[in-house]
Amino acid sequence: MTNDAWGKVREELRQRVGKNNYVTWIEPLKFAAIQDGVARFEVPTMFFGDWVSRNFADQIRVQMAHAGSVVDRVEFAVVAKPAEARAVRVPAPQSRHGADDDLPGAPLDKRFTFDSFVVGKPNELAHAAARRVAEGGPVTFNPLFLYGGVGLGKTHLMHAMAHELQTRKPHLRVLYLSAEQFMYRFVQALREREIMGFKEVFRSVDVLMVDDVQFISGKDSTQEEFFHTFNALVDQNKQIVISADRAPGEIKDLEDRIKSRLQCGLVVDLHPTDYELRLGILQTKAEYYRTQYRGLVLADGVLEFLAHRITTNVRVLEGALTRLFAFASLVGREITLDLTQDCLSDILRASDRKVTIEEIQRKVAEHYNIRLSDMIGPKRLRIIARPRQIAMYLAKQLTPRSLPEIGRRFGGRDHTTIMHGVRRIEELMATDSQLSDDLQLLRRLLQG
Ligand code: ADP
Ligand code: MG
Repeated sequence: MTNDAWGKVREELRQRVGKNNYVTWIEPLKFAAIQDGVARFEVPTMFFGDWVSRNFADQIRVQMAHAGSVVDRVEFAVVAKPAEARAVRVPAPQSRHGADDDLPGAPLDKRFTFDSFVVGKPNELAHAAARRVAEGGPVTFNPLFLYGGVGLGKTHLMHAMAHELQTRKPHLRVLYLSAEQFMYRFVQALREREIMGFKEVFRSVDVLMVDDVQFISGKDSTQEEFFHTFNALVDQNKQIVISADRAPGEIKDLEDRIKSRLQCGLVVDLHPTDYELRLGILQTKAEYYRTQYRGLVLADGVLEFLAHRITTNVRVLEGALTRLFAFASLVGREITLDLTQDCLSDILRASDRKVTIEEIQRKVAEHYNIRLSDMIGPKRLRIIARPRQIAMYLAKQLTPRSLPEIGRRFGGRDHTTIMHGVRRIEELMATDSQLSDDLQLLRRLLQG
């Protein structure tokens, strides 16, 4: 297999593993050679190799086979002189841990900086808090807990903090990793009876950032270890930054003592984007693309159109713009509204699905086996009132309707009744895992 052929395999993998995984784990792989049925790759660190080996080796083999190179095994070796360090291995000048002072962090994306982060109303608090932590001054809130829906910039902000800290305070040991990686390291340490080493490493950092902490829910021994690591660092006044897709109280199967620890510092959420923020992000990206694809003309109104129509998450928005520029440059045409609609028809259609209150009432009634008329009727029995509150909650979450409007659709109820219903569900979600499962399912059904 040549380097070119590997390039093609890599493209296939990109489709399969998702952009983030691709950028983090596949792109940095350096194809070395195939010999005796073994495909070899160079990787920046052992940890990197272990991770890719556990998570992606099979897919790599399958795609290589599709491309005509059947191999039995995929192996990863650390290059003697790591090229430009992608992993967060923060230099430790007065090395406290000897020669192999190597933090098991995840690679940072170079593009995720404060400079490239567009600030708007929905994320200004999260951004300000992240900036504060990135100054590396005395710890004022611990932990910083960032939460919000997918694609709203949590990972971007965490990487930005890590970059900034590396520049401003190069002596600090900053460790960024996902909760899954934390778990993986922990399990590996248990297996290899290196738990002391594990503890030592994790308790020796100055700033610990754990991304997507919802993934350790239900994993009891990992939670336990996480809790102790967390406490040890807080006791030493070391900064901790955590992200999750929901508020601490809403993460199910997470021990209460951990929830309450996570709530001790500053809990900030990233709100869904608004039009201005989306437009700002598009303008920033378009500016960048204009330097990449010189000569391409972007017609007026295209960015406004996209900001208006694609309201899901920033990742989808970015993907749309990337595709648009690539397509326009390929066919050598100006980016007009027509071209945009043609090129992005699938994305636009997907974002078009507007959920109505009626649909929500119908789906919820079906799910709980009650009559649709009970949604708007007066019955106060719990088996009917609860689903009704769930429908109110979903109506608030999934439609742009105001509380009074929602009230009207629920048989002319007062807006305070709706508010009470919404609050009640929010409270229950924190403790009732059946309910949050139901909600997740309903949401998926409704949003298709
Ligand atoms: P999350 O971790 O919350 O799921 P990410 O941080 O991975 O989301 O963000 C998804 C994509 O959207 C990334 O490419 C990121 O750079 C981009 N993005 C999100 N918010 C912003 C923003 N405010 N400004 C610029 N880019 C953003
Ligand atoms: Mg993320």
